Amino acid sequence: MQFIQANDYRIYFNENGYEAFNKHLAENKYSNLFIIVDSNTNEYCLPAFLPYIETELAIEIIEFDAGESFKNIETCVEIWNVLTELGADRKSLIINLGGGVVTDLGGFIASTFKRGIDFIHVPTTLLAMVDASVGGKNGVDLGNLKNQIGVINTPKMVLIDTRYLETLPQNEMRSGLAEMLKHGLIYDKTYWELFLDLSKIDFADFDQLIYTSVEIKNNIVMQDPTEKGIRKALNFGHTLGHAIESYFLENENKKTLLHGEAIAAGMILESYISWQKNLISAEEYIQIKSTIKNIFEDIIFEENDLIPIMELLIHDKKNEYGLVQFVLLYGIGKVKINQEVENELINKAFSDYKS
Ligand code: NAD
Repeated sequence: MQFIQANDYRIYFNENGYEAFNKHLAENKYSNLFIIVDSNTNEYCLPAFLPYIETELAIEIIEFDAGESFKNIETCVEIWNVLTELGADRKSLIINLGGGVVTDLGGFIASTFKRGIDFIHVPTTLLAMVDASVGGKNGVDLGNLKNQIGVINTPKMVLIDTRYLETLPQNEMRSGLAEMLKHGLIYDKTYWELFLDLSKIDFADFDQLIYTSVEIKNNIVMQDPTEKGIRKALNFGHTLGHAIESYFLENENKKTLLHGEAIAAGMILESYISWQKNLISAEEYIQIKSTIKNIFEDIIFEENDLIPIMELLIHDKKNEYGLVQFVLLYGIGKVKINQEVENELINKAFSDYKS
C-alpha cells in the first residue's frame, strides 16, 4: 500500500512501514531508542515489533499500566524521570507502540521532554490506526477531563501494521469502528454506506477500509492542522460523546465506556439534533441510528445522569467564548461546524436515544 503524505510526515502501511522506519533510523543519528508500551502492547505487540528493527543503538523499553486512567500527568512524570535516569537526550527517539492512550501520552512526553524530541507512532488498536495516531494531537487527561492538557506536534512517521489487530479484543475493534463510521458520516457518503451491512464486509477488505479512513482524517487535518475551521468536523459525535465518556469514567456506579462506545452514542444524539434542525432527513437519521445501534450496545442513561453530563459539556475544551459548540451533519457526508444547540434539544435527543 502506498504511503499517505501528511503535512510534514508520512503514514506507512504494513511491510513498507518497517522499511521506511529502518531507513529513517539509518539517516538520523539518534543516540538511543525508547519504546513506550503499555502492559498489553508489551506482551502482544512488542515481540512482533522488535525483530523488524535494524539498529546497533541501545533500545530501552518503558512500560506503564494499560488503560485510560493512566493517561495522566502522573504517568508522564514517572516516564520523564525514567527517561532522565536512562540518559535520554535531545537526540533520543521515542517510539510509541500501542493504542491511543500510548500514542497520546507518548507523543506528549516526547513533545515536552527537553523541549521536544523526535517520536514515531506505531498504533496497535483500530482506533489508534484510523484516528489517534494521525493528525498530531497529543495529550493527557486532567482528572476526569479528557485531553485537557496537550500539544499539537507531529510525529516523524506513523507505521500502521494491521497485523497487530489480530490480538485486539472485539469490543476494542468496535471502538475503532465508531471513528470509521464517523469518517463516512462527515466526509464520504459512499464510504459510510459500506458499513450499512457489516455482514457484507470481508476481513480481507479491512486493510482498504482502514486506509480510506486514514486518508479522510489526514485530508481534513491537512486543510486545517490547528483546528481553526474544518478540522472541527472530526469532533462530530464527540461533544456529547466526551461528556458521556467523562461522566461514566468518574461515576463509580457506571461501567466505564470505551472511547468509541461513547462516541457512537454521541453520534446518534448529534444526528438527532441535526435532524431536528432540518439539516438531515428523518430517513437519514433513522439509518444512522439503526446502523450504529446494530453495532453498539445501548448505553443506559438514568434520569439524573443528564444534569452532570450537561455540566461536563461546559468543560469541553472545544468551547469558545464559554459557548458549547457542536458539529452537526448537513446531509450524510457533510457537516456544519460551530453550531449552538439549546439545552432542551439536547434533552430531547437523550429521550429519543432511549426510545
Ligand atoms: P487504548 O490505548 O487504551 O487501547 C485499548 C486497549 O487495548 C488497552 O487495554 C490496550 O492495552 C489494548 N491493546 C492495544 N493494542 C493491543 C493489541 N494489538 N492487542 C491486544 N490489546 C491491545 O485505547 P484506544 O481505544 O486505542 O485509544 C483511546 C485513546 O485515544 C483515548 O485516550 C482518546 O482520547 C485517544 N484519542 C486521541 C485522538 C487524537 O487525535 N490524538 C483521537 C481519538 C482518540
